[in-house]
Amino acid sequence: MTRLLDIQNVSLAFRQRTGLFSPPNLIPAVRSASLHVDAGEVVAVVGESGSGKSTLAKMVLRLLTPDTGTIAIDGKPAQSLGPREFARLVQPVFQDPYSSINPKRTLAEIIQTPLKIAGGVSARECEERARDLFERVGLPMRLFHSYPNQISGGQRQRVAIARALILRPKLLVCDEPTSALDVSVQAQILELFNELKQDFGLTYLFISHNLAVVERIADRIAVMYRGEIVEQGATDAFFAAPTHPYSKMLLSSVLPPIPGRPLPTVSRVFELNTPRGSQP
Ligand code: ADP
Ligand code: MG
Repeated sequence: MTRLLDIQNVSLAFRQRTGLFSPPNLIPAVRSASLHVDAGEVVAVVGESGSGKSTLAKMVLRLLTPDTGTIAIDGKPAQSLGPREFARLVQPVFQDPYSSINPKRTLAEIIQTPLKIAGGVSARECEERARDLFERVGLPMRLFHSYPNQISGGQRQRVAIARALILRPKLLVCDEPTSALDVSVQAQILELFNELKQDFGLTYLFISHNLAVVERIADRIAVMYRGEIVEQGATDAFFAAPTHPYSKMLLSSVLPPIPGRPLPTVSRVFELNTPRGSQP
């Protein structure tokens, strides 16, 4: 089995300036996180807003550089890969396709851009591959020369997915790719991710705050809490018996609340599960 992504002890703190002469505040966004994804796997990272999921994804995508730790992609240190080599291995799908695709370009142009930049393919083949993908992600061909503002949010996410696939990458890093969509559209896009995984032999690092979403797509789940990965395991095992108190809370919050009883909070769960006197 190929280890496509290997994240080891990665940390990153943001520096926040408080004043001209005072030292910057350090916000530890990711703390010594280790996680791997083997070829063909779907590994989900879950956790509440602010837990460090996007920061971790951005480090994998080389949009941020870790303070410490290592990230290897397909067996090579991520920072040693040239931009073209990297683009052929790893592609992103973000939450909001509208901000990640250029509104002034037609859908046809948007999808072809990565391939044009990578080069080595004729204009004709470039367009052919874009047309094939356009259909494959479920977009009607009559929209091929439309602009992003002429299509729906779900369709825009399909465009972003087609663009991510045109270089035939091995790994997709998806950061909340369905979170901005209506529930029914969410289900369709998730189904598309599942189909494409089979058809293209893809591997996903799939970030979501939504456990109902990850249950439908992930083989394994990693739970982030305050910048740390506090639990990892097979999806079935996780849903059957989460071990970390925060995971239990996450899971209990997807179940319908009991009338008359307050929803659990992080601090309450820690109170219930941590021995007196010790810090969570
Ligand atoms: P998530 O994706 O799980 O919601 P993020 O990775 O976006 O979490 O954020 C983790 C922490 O880092 C949060 O406390 C957030 O406020 C902080 N953070 C994220 N991006 C920046 C930034 N560019 N500058 C300063 N702090 C940031
Ligand atoms: Mg995020």
